[in-house]
Amino acid sequence: MRIAMVSEHASPLATVGSVDAGGQNVHVAALSKALAADGHQVTVYTRRDSAELPRRVGFGPGVEVVHIDAGPPTRIPKDDLLPHMPQLAEGIAADWESRGAPEVVHSHFWMSGLAALGAVESLPQERIPVVHTFHALGSVKRRFQGAADTSPTARRWLEPHVGSRAAAIVATSTDEVLELGRMDIATGKVRVVPCGVDPSAFSASGPSVPKDVRHRILSVGRLVPRKGVDIAIDALARLVKAGEDAELVVLGSSGGSAEADPEIARLKESARASGVEERVRFMGQVDQVELPRWYRSADVVVCTPWYEPFGIVPLEAMGCGVPVVAAAVGGLRDTVVDEGTGLLVPPFDADATAAAISRLFDDDELRSELGRAGRERVSTKYTWQQVAHETAEVYGRLAGTTPVRHETTPAAHAATHAPHATTRAPHEAPALGGVYQ
Ligand code: UDP
Repeated sequence: MRIAMVSEHASPLATVGSVDAGGQNVHVAALSKALAADGHQVTVYTRRDSAELPRRVGFGPGVEVVHIDAGPPTRIPKDDLLPHMPQLAEGIAADWESRGAPEVVHSHFWMSGLAALGAVESLPQERIPVVHTFHALGSVKRRFQGAADTSPTARRWLEPHVGSRAAAIVATSTDEVLELGRMDIATGKVRVVPCGVDPSAFSASGPSVPKDVRHRILSVGRLVPRKGVDIAIDALARLVKAGEDAELVVLGSSGGSAEADPEIARLKESARASGVEERVRFMGQVDQVELPRWYRSADVVVCTPWYEPFGIVPLEAMGCGVPVVAAAVGGLRDTVVDEGTGLLVPPFDADATAAAISRLFDDDELRSELGRAGRERVSTKYTWQQVAHETAEVYGRLAGTTPVRHETTPAAHAATHAPHATTRAPHEAPALGGVYQ
């Protein structure tokens, strides 16, 4: 199948672990590669954020990344990207006009949904189905961040609009389905397909970063306040006060070097105020290939976000055989099995987080049993191959009933003239043009 991915701000080529580059980049990169490994042809469209980038870049067999001009070719915070989505849509449609349209489009994050729908609706031939993954929802962000949410106001109505117009939605957690229902999006077209992990990269055996203390707690993620690293710091302070010889290592940044990072400066201040400045180490953004060494070195990985749409970090920890102490929110309630692969604690609760970590510190057997079960869980349920198979099923169901006329390859011809192919009813709603300007 010819698949177009649209990921406006999150390029699969970007280095992840800073403010606007994290799970979505990992998801788009790994899903595209896994789909290509199954014989699909994948083109990822993303916004050009540097003048140096070539227009088309090969990203492994069967996957290419196309940089589309949409706004100035510099890094722009994702919350300022909305005005550039019409240009992104035009650029994608132009690429399809010259190179042939895909059979299905999969857009990631609400603004990519606008660009994908805009591109599809601008073409003269019948509609290509748009499958959408939100990755994060503005309604949830507003609930937790209030005035600190810098998303454009129009996200309030454009995000549900994308949900209503998409032919199918791939949600990454069961919690997200509830949230979509609250937004009045028909949940009948939603299928839950989680994110994945590569268990051969995130594995229990291999090198590990040495430690000078008895116990290491690890936190990994983009450093944004909602990841709740303060709660992990407070938990560490309680543990140290209770006599534990422990440290908290924090991987990730909010942009730039660890020394100049404002969020690291804020968290350092929080550690100082709690009396554990010497026991919290900020390593800044760490490359994905270096991460397994860090995970393996930890006694426990802690994830205490305010909310979490999915959360790939716990899967990476489980892949490396390390138990996870996680706040019982969002996708973490699907992935972390309480008393099975980790311990779930109430959100915003440093006492409960410290108690759970302490239990694991004190019980070597429990730690290794949860770690072993975590490894088994990701290897059987969360590989990118499985994610790709389940996602391709969603594509197949839609593309099988939606002929795309201007495909010319024999395979595409056969697919679009399959005996069961039927013509899809045209969309009743007006085209997007202008809605999001
Ligand atoms: N990450 C990384 N280096 C860092 C910090 C984070 O490579 O220094 C990666 C992490 O391994 C994970 C991703 O960023 O793959 C974060 O994804 P997650 O779903 O946990 O959070 P999101 O970014 O979607 O909020």
